[in-house]
Amino acid sequence: MNPTLQQDLRDINNILEQVKQHGIDFLNTIDSLPTSTRNTIDTTGILNDSGLGALPTLEMFNQRLAPLMVSQGGPRYWGFVTGGATPASIVGDWLTTIYDPNAQATNAQGGVSALIEIETINLLLQLLALPKSFLGGFVTGATLSNFTCLAVARQWLGKQLGLDFAKNGIKAPIHILTATPHSSSIKCLAMLGIGSQNFTKIKTIEGNREAIDIDDLEQNISKLNGQPFILISSAGTVNTADFDDFNAIAKLKEKYNFWWHIDAAFGGFAVCSPKYHHLLNGWEKADSITIDCHKWLNVPYESAFYLIKDEHKKCQVETFQNSNAPYLGDPLENFSYLNFLPENSRRLKALPVWFSLLAYGKQGFQDIVENSVARALQFDEFIAQSENFELLAPTRLNNVCFTLAGEHNQEKAILFLTKLNDKGKVFMTPTIYQNKKGIRASFVNWRTTELDVQIAIDSLKETILELGIQ
Ligand SMILES: *Cc1c(COP(=O)(O)O)cnc(C)c1O
Repeated sequence: MNPTLQQDLRDINNILEQVKQHGIDFLNTIDSLPTSTRNTIDTTGILNDSGLGALPTLEMFNQRLAPLMVSQGGPRYWGFVTGGATPASIVGDWLTTIYDPNAQATNAQGGVSALIEIETINLLLQLLALPKSFLGGFVTGATLSNFTCLAVARQWLGKQLGLDFAKNGIKAPIHILTATPHSSSIKCLAMLGIGSQNFTKIKTIEGNREAIDIDDLEQNISKLNGQPFILISSAGTVNTADFDDFNAIAKLKEKYNFWWHIDAAFGGFAVCSPKYHHLLNGWEKADSITIDCHKWLNVPYESAFYLIKDEHKKCQVETFQNSNAPYLGDPLENFSYLNFLPENSRRLKALPVWFSLLAYGKQGFQDIVENSVARALQFDEFIAQSENFELLAPTRLNNVCFTLAGEHNQEKAILFLTKLNDKGKVFMTPTIYQNKKGIRASFVNWRTTELDVQIAIDSLKETILELGIQ
């Protein structure tokens, strides 16, 4: 064995002890660390011949990189849709690395990893009040979940026309209908060879809404004259957390032949609270659903899952099977995740989720969701009452979308946001909403308290004063 490896192996107690202490120090200060940085690093470093060993490398990380890390997992990082890591999810994540299994293994001989994943999906279905008729699996994020679902939808559509796209390539037009798709779905259309411009944009409901206009949807369906199509719908749009009317879509599904996909990356968790449960009414009729775990479930990156109705198992296997590897057996007989999703070898992503679900239960996630929405409403109230800001849309759930008040300040919105982010007290991201330059604050982190919202509000007020905005 290489002598440095040998030394590290002997010293493993000490190494893990130091990492633990480092982790504790970081987590104990996560509330006060800055939420942004202007520092960069010299990325041209030279690889040394003989290694340093784990502890000197940790020391180098502590000196050079750790001070630059921003508080992304902390309570005031409201950009994008950014979750954090709960204690139980960290335990699951650390143990995933320690045990280092390959999540494909399904049987007693090869390990039980896939069974842990199946058990975790089963627990998630209960958390989300969804039926057992969905088969699920873990991928890196909602982007890859959308990809997985839409890849199977693509195969299903071919099958409706008597074609096998997975085998022979796309030999017929694929009709996609959608109103307010997340950018990642459009990226998936590019990756899937469908084309990022090849979709029909359905109107949204009049007024300040991002949800699909059902009448316009039905008119566009009629234009297809019975050709099969794929509908991409939303449970939680990123700007205003709007939801499509799933009962109405379910009714259309009784009349027309289409694949119904729901991107519920964060919005799916609204179902955890009886207050917002109704937003998801009817979603169980979908063919496929995308859900992120590294957002509202607050587990470390990279974690998301897809749910695809098990009646589509054959299309799923046709899309993802390792068809020239006979040693893997018949994918429909011998279940193995590597024939059901994009990756082959991968880590046991289910374990941090499994720990979280057991540790905090239904009540834990109801509380996280309700706290996030309460914090969003607290922030919304400040924006609504302030002379300096205006809401761009009503706050429907956990996202607040706003800008500077007054037409004459429109051009200053991005400057304001840059200055605000520079202060490092709170972090938000820009958007364009109904042709206006806006700012989004998204609440999903389990740590965010009333005081955090107040700290952010103070930072907004200071920035307004500094810029002399009126
Ligand atoms: C965040 C998000 C995605 C993309 O998720 P990643 O985890 O970044 O891959 C897709 N759809 C919606 C609605 C999202 O909020």
